[in-house]
Amino acid sequence: MSVRVRCAPSPTGYLHVGVTRTALFNYLHARHHGGAFLVRIEDTDRERSKEEFTRSILEGLEWLGLQSDEPPIFQSERTEYYRGLFRQLVETGAAYHCDCSKERLDTLRAEQTAAGRTPRYDNRCRDRKNVNPEGAVIRLKVPDSERITVEDPIYGTIDFKTEDIDDFVLAKSDGTPTYQFAVVADDYDQGVTLIIRGNDLLPSTPKQVLLYRALGWEPPRFAHLPMILGTDKQKLSKRHGATSLLAYRAMGYLPQAMCNYLVRLGWAHGDQEVFTLSEMIEKFTLEAVGKAPAVFNPEKLLWLNGEHIRLLSVSDLTDAWLAHLKCLEQDRRYLEEGRGADIPSAPDLNRLLAPDNRPWVEALVAACQERSGTLVQITEYAQPFLSETLEYDPKAVAKVLTPESRKPLEQVLSWVRGSLSLPDEAGIHDFLVSLSESLGLGLGKVAQPVRVSLTGRTVSPPINTTLSILEKSIGKAKVEERLQRGLELAGGASL
Ligand code: GLU
Repeated sequence: MSVRVRCAPSPTGYLHVGVTRTALFNYLHARHHGGAFLVRIEDTDRERSKEEFTRSILEGLEWLGLQSDEPPIFQSERTEYYRGLFRQLVETGAAYHCDCSKERLDTLRAEQTAAGRTPRYDNRCRDRKNVNPEGAVIRLKVPDSERITVEDPIYGTIDFKTEDIDDFVLAKSDGTPTYQFAVVADDYDQGVTLIIRGNDLLPSTPKQVLLYRALGWEPPRFAHLPMILGTDKQKLSKRHGATSLLAYRAMGYLPQAMCNYLVRLGWAHGDQEVFTLSEMIEKFTLEAVGKAPAVFNPEKLLWLNGEHIRLLSVSDLTDAWLAHLKCLEQDRRYLEEGRGADIPSAPDLNRLLAPDNRPWVEALVAACQERSGTLVQITEYAQPFLSETLEYDPKAVAKVLTPESRKPLEQVLSWVRGSLSLPDEAGIHDFLVSLSESLGLGLGKVAQPVRVSLTGRTVSPPINTTLSILEKSIGKAKVEERLQRGLELAGGASL
């Protein structure tokens, strides 16, 4: 039988790291075995499910390349199918209607808790004949004293006893299904062969096996993934990072770095850290997933992102940067409070996307590639090349634009003014070297004043690259203007 796995998020919140890791493991398992990966939106909780969450889930999965091989299905659209199964279960006597009031169930729970027992339904309606199905829930008749054994490729043999499971609810009083019911109905209907999900759902597994049996179906296999904790060893939550995966897109992470990071949350292949997607597909097996909780470490994610930035060709990195910028303004809403302020707004995208500008845009990205850990850092580093106005760092000005910088600045400015256009990077380099020789100054004494004048900072790509890209990005006239401004800041007169 060919492998069919699924990711079944509930749209009661944004796509988060835990669900995404589950989706990725399912996806890799499917690809490794040449099977199918399916996405199902479990929107049975009508009150808590929101369109916006569904959108963020599908968009986040798409961003990572974890698309469903078949159109995603929505449980809210499958009521008729579930109704037919409810009828079947009641008719065969596997399930029954229960009209116990909320008050009765609350009292029962309170009494059991007070007596030190685990609260559970007392099966009052199991054999009652006169329950009015209108407004009643449907419960599964859970057999007494049975064993349920699950062979989990990660946790090994797991035994459950039916004594620990009460007659749980399959249909709510409004006729809509519960999670326990809909998940089984759909996994069966979609031909899912293996369920890979977080071990927080372990208590649900025996209930679902019982339901398969009640419906006369063969259960799929189950694999449970270890939890993900924060660096403080607490369950992963808002405190540990972004709650929405798309916040990482806003923060300049590459989808392939994200996948690489997530795959290492519970899975290892020797001591290899950096994986391309095809390597992950080739090497991923459930047997190599560990049982111990995984720890989400944002610093390692940042490191991996830098590694992936450097693995990309300049053209692919340029595309990734532009894709990040395109989504940036809409992605800002996923950022936690206070985070957005650190991320500069997207520069004029039309200019960056214009085919004529592609050569200098790529040159700019290439100049940033080595030193950037995120796509946001590329934007920051690239800022002097992208905006018409320049902010001068007062410290850089005070340190570099001193009276002795006037001479080299004057010379560079008149050279730029006197050239119709600048030579290539090698030519610019040659000019600056011979200038520094003729002035009897080290190259740094020439390059730094030029750099601060042109970029407002002491750090930028190599000075010949900086000049060359600036001529194309902001234009020669602006380059002259900035050199002139630098000269003035150094106390020199206008040339
Ligand atoms: N919809 C469930 C959830 O988001 C997961 C269902 C499953 O994987 O079985 O928690």
